[in-house]
Amino acid sequence: MEYDAIVLGAGHNGLAAAVHLASKGWSVAVVEARDIAGGAVKTAEVTLPGFRHDLYAMNLSMFAGSPFFARHKDDLVAAGLELVPVANCFANLFRDGTWLGVNTDLDRTAQAISALSPDDAAAWRALVARFGVDAPHIFGLLGSPMPSVAAAKTVWKAWWQLGSGWLADTARLILSTPRAFLSARFKHPHVQTMMAAWGMHLDFPPDTAGGALFPYLESMANQSFGMAIGRGGADTIIRAMVAVLKAKGGELITGTSVTGLEMVGKRAKGVRLADGRLLTARRAVVSNIHPTRLFGSIVGPRQVPQRFSEGMARFRPGPGTMMIHLATDALPEWAAGAELKSFAYVHVAPDMAMMTAAFAEAAAGLLPREPVLVVGQPTAIDPSRAPDGKHVIWIQVRVVPAEIRGDAAGHIGETDWDSVKEVYADRVLDSLETYAPGLKGSVIARRVLSPLDLERDNPNLIGGDNLAGSHHLDQNFLFRPLAGYSRYKTPIPGLYVCGASTWPGAGTGAGSGFMLAKMPAGV
Ligand SMILES: Cc1cc2nc3c(=O)[nH]c(=O)nc-3n(C[C@H](O)[C@H](O)[C@H](O)COP(=O)(O)OP(=O)(O)OC[C@H]3O[C@@H](n4cnc5c(N)ncnc54)[C@H](O)[C@@H]3O)c2cc1C
Repeated sequence: MEYDAIVLGAGHNGLAAAVHLASKGWSVAVVEARDIAGGAVKTAEVTLPGFRHDLYAMNLSMFAGSPFFARHKDDLVAAGLELVPVANCFANLFRDGTWLGVNTDLDRTAQAISALSPDDAAAWRALVARFGVDAPHIFGLLGSPMPSVAAAKTVWKAWWQLGSGWLADTARLILSTPRAFLSARFKHPHVQTMMAAWGMHLDFPPDTAGGALFPYLESMANQSFGMAIGRGGADTIIRAMVAVLKAKGGELITGTSVTGLEMVGKRAKGVRLADGRLLTARRAVVSNIHPTRLFGSIVGPRQVPQRFSEGMARFRPGPGTMMIHLATDALPEWAAGAELKSFAYVHVAPDMAMMTAAFAEAAAGLLPREPVLVVGQPTAIDPSRAPDGKHVIWIQVRVVPAEIRGDAAGHIGETDWDSVKEVYADRVLDSLETYAPGLKGSVIARRVLSPLDLERDNPNLIGGDNLAGSHHLDQNFLFRPLAGYSRYKTPIPGLYVCGASTWPGAGTGAGSGFMLAKMPAGV
């Protein structure tokens, strides 16, 4: 079969690229190794019938605010995409039995902060105001290829409107550690901790350079715009993208892996599939496959320059993650306050010291003694995901080692994830029980996904790395996935890469797939 473009991998970035290319009139086929599309955005009844769990991503705020969604919104909504807005966005639990959270009502959030520190409440309001100024420029940069004329224009416009002081402050923000940025603005440790917990969603414990930006953007974006989750599950975006793709004449081939690249001369001209088929591409082969895999086993090292193949081999994963999905009779009875039941995310990251320790332990191959937890309560916002009166609880354990060398608590002796995952999940639930007594008794069924299970379901999640590559400064911006190749081109003409391993990185913003498909000179 011959197409204008073949997209390798039906993650949301691959699908975004396919939808946009199809909307330009290209004939497009998407090849997906698994039986269903979605990659790290999948919803499934993995505990009991009627309980729909977001297996991986749950928070769709990045998608809701993305240029891709803005461009294709009418088609996607007509195809059934539905987002549910969240006002009670995220909260954090502390060791003293209290909590602090962000609601889209600024006065409400500021009042809660003021009870801890009136100065911090004023600083929060000031930061929200600064975000209003920063947002168009920072999101403009995140939505531009890196580097590009568009990115340069965004920086120039910011300089023209706001001066070199703003540029210097923003550069410093990008380089800062979470702790340095937050402690310079807020006095109370609870406020600092609440924001710093967002760094752990990526691979930024409190003292890692480059980690301040995400806590700043997430905290302020949640305050200013709220959060969004999918009606019925995060896969609402995937189902809609697939439907739009097909309506535009595109094709989705599932259940077979891409195993090889076909070249004509030096140009990529197609792919070989595990089932023996050969697909040819007149104009472009667009890969949503993790570049370490693409250039490790699908494209031979001799097909690319040595610097490139070495760079891909050295592309560093982030730490692993683990998911625990619960079907329950009730939402957690949070000891710190009943209002916590209405929040989309409850972070169990009670102080910066434990975030630092958990990250260092995981990096050393140890199961963290006290894990950092993101507890998602989707049925508090969208009850359609479970039978009447029942709930699904989404627990992300940040962070765990890909390969276990030991247990920081000294209790777990095994080192293979298949033996360890249930017993480590018990530790997680024991820890949660101290914050939400009775939770364990309300569990009807559970499904634990270890880092190994994540990789088994999605080859892009190497070692359970939910980021498809560390986002530390040496692998971000111009360096993602490798300096000189941050604009989705590869050394092979006709072969392009998008996905979370490329700029602007992980998350459900569909950024790389959309930017790649828009490039006039590229694909
Ligand atoms: C546990 C977890 C929780 C997360 N939570 C959030 C969240 O709440 N909010 C958020 O914004 N982000 C979240 N993320 C991050 C976000 O989900 C990902 O960054 C994003 O979905 C990656 O999309 P992608 O299109 O780049 O790749 P992927 O979704 O990884 O898709 C890649 C696809 O390529 C396929 N593939 C790989 N190799 C081959 C091959 N050889 N042949 C054919 N197909 C192949 C895979 O099967 C997969 O379907 C989370 C991620 C994880 C893992």
